[in-house]
Amino acid sequence: MFRFAQNMVKKVVPYDRSARFDEIQIETTSVCNRSCHFCPNSVSPPASSRMPSALFRKIADELENMGYSGNIALYLRNEPFMDKSLHKNVRLIRDKCPNSYIYIASNGDLVTVEKLIQVFDAGISSVALSAYDGKEQAAAFHALAKKFVSKYPSVDYVSGRRDIHDHTKKYIWVTSYTDDPENFFNRAGTVSVHAELKKPLPLMCTLPFNQLCITATGEVALCCADWYAEAGLGNVNDHSLLDIWFSPEFISYRDSLSNFDRSKHLCDKCTHKLQDLPSILLKSYF
Ligand code: SF4
Ligand code: SF4
Repeated sequence: MFRFAQNMVKKVVPYDRSARFDEIQIETTSVCNRSCHFCPNSVSPPASSRMPSALFRKIADELENMGYSGNIALYLRNEPFMDKSLHKNVRLIRDKCPNSYIYIASNGDLVTVEKLIQVFDAGISSVALSAYDGKEQAAAFHALAKKFVSKYPSVDYVSGRRDIHDHTKKYIWVTSYTDDPENFFNRAGTVSVHAELKKPLPLMCTLPFNQLCITATGEVALCCADWYAEAGLGNVNDHSLLDIWFSPEFISYRDSLSNFDRSKHLCDKCTHKLQDLPSILLKSYF
C-alpha cells in the first residue's frame, strides 16, 4: 500500500535510459517434464526446441565482449536438467563470464548428487530445488542437498536466496511452494491464477528494466510472462543483445511502465505484483 501511494505521488519512475541489463536468462532447451497448473506449460507448452550450440556461443561471445559480470540464468520456460549438455553450457559461459553469478532453479525430478557435482564442477554458482509437491518432496530435496554438500563441502547449503551475500561463493537451497495465489501471477493472462482483468493495473513493473530473456530459438521475450515471445523485440540470431535491449520496442515498454502504464500488449492482461494494489481498489479491476 505504501509503495503504491508513493508511486502514485511520483507519477513516473525516472530511469537511466543508457543502463544495460544485469540479468540474462538463456533457455538452452524449451522443454519441461512437468505441467504445473500455475505455469503456461500447463496450457500450451512452447514447441520443443534446443538452442543450437552456435547460437549459445554467439550469446556467450557477446557477453564476454561486453565484459558482462551480471547474473546469468540457464533456463527460462523449461526444466534446466532436461538439457543433457547443461554442464557443458555452464562451463562455456563460465569461461566467457568469469565474474558472473550463474544459476538455475530446477523442479528436482531429474536431479541426482552426480548431476549436481557435474554442474558445480563446471562453474555454476547456485542451484535452487523447487519443491512443488508438498512436505514429503521438500524433505526428500533437503536430504538430497545435505547428501550433496557432504560430498562437496565448498557449496553452502542455505535456506534461500536471501542468504546469498557473496557472489563468489556457491550455494544450494530448497524452496517449498504452497498453492497460495500470492506466490504466483497470471503470466500476462496465460494462466487462470487470478480472475480476468477488466482493465490494465496501474502499476510499475521492474522486469524489463534489468532482465533480458532469450528463448531456445533466439527470440527475446519481454519477461518471464511473455511465454510465446509475442512482444516483438527481435531475435538474437539476427541482432546483437545490445541492439535488441536498446531497440525502440523495448524502450517503449520501459517508458510505458515507468509511467505506471500497463496498456501495452501482454502487460495489459498481467497481474504481476498485484499485491501492490491497495485492496480497496481491487474491485474496480476485476
Ligand atoms: S513451473 Fe517449472 S516445473 Fe512447472 S511446468 Fe513450469 S517450468 Fe516446468
Ligand atoms: S507487467 Fe508486463 S513486463 Fe511485467 S511481468 Fe507482466 S507482462 Fe511482463
